[in-house]
Amino acid sequence: MSLFDRLIAIIAPHRCVGCGDEGPLLCRACSSALTCLPARCYRCRAVTKLSRTCRSCRATSPLYRVTVGTNYETIAKELVWRLKFQGAQAAAGQIAEYLATIYAAEAHILIVPVPTSSKRVRQRGYDQAQLLARELADRLGRRYLPCLTRVGQQHQVGASRHQRLTQLTGAFRVKSSGVTGAHILLVDDVLTTGATLQAAARALKAAGAKRVEAIVFAQA
Ligand SMILES: [Zn+2]
Ligand SMILES: [Zn+2]
Repeated sequence: MSLFDRLIAIIAPHRCVGCGDEGPLLCRACSSALTCLPARCYRCRAVTKLSRTCRSCRATSPLYRVTVGTNYETIAKELVWRLKFQGAQAAAGQIAEYLATIYAAEAHILIVPVPTSSKRVRQRGYDQAQLLARELADRLGRRYLPCLTRVGQQHQVGASRHQRLTQLTGAFRVKSSGVTGAHILLVDDVLTTGATLQAAARALKAAGAKRVEAIVFAQA
């Protein structure tokens, strides 16, 4: 818990987003009640070992695997909303705590946030994926490397799935030389089509990353 969160907890204690009890933003009981998803391919949802991308999806996906925390519903939706609009630090901590219990990180993996489009970051004053990735890196005891930036800022609202996929191709730039030969764990809050993760993974691979996988809190 950050000093700021500790102060907030004294002045205005949190209530659990699930049951409303005073205490952490997500109590232990409600955390364990989150739907744990079966290990499966993030694209076609076929059951696979350790959530690896299935053989046929691998043909067109740069992602080795995607670990998904839970379904994007009820408590998860509320937590993601908090992450974006209210008490972000506490929400990031709770989500990271949960993800750290379902994910075993290999020793040298680098933790990389998928940057939110900068217009939204400007509106909010922070990047929720960065917050989340930093919290997760802390808990996993792995290196945090915010090495991606967005290029081009087309808005996705109203765009069709196809347009989104096209717009996002090449939408990221890698601003670090530290990814050559690296294994990378991309971190994001919500998974929808997977287009954003794939674009980020492609940029990292083009910059020399050996293997790129991802972890997201909730799948819509
Ligand atoms: Zn609760
Ligand atoms: Zn698949």
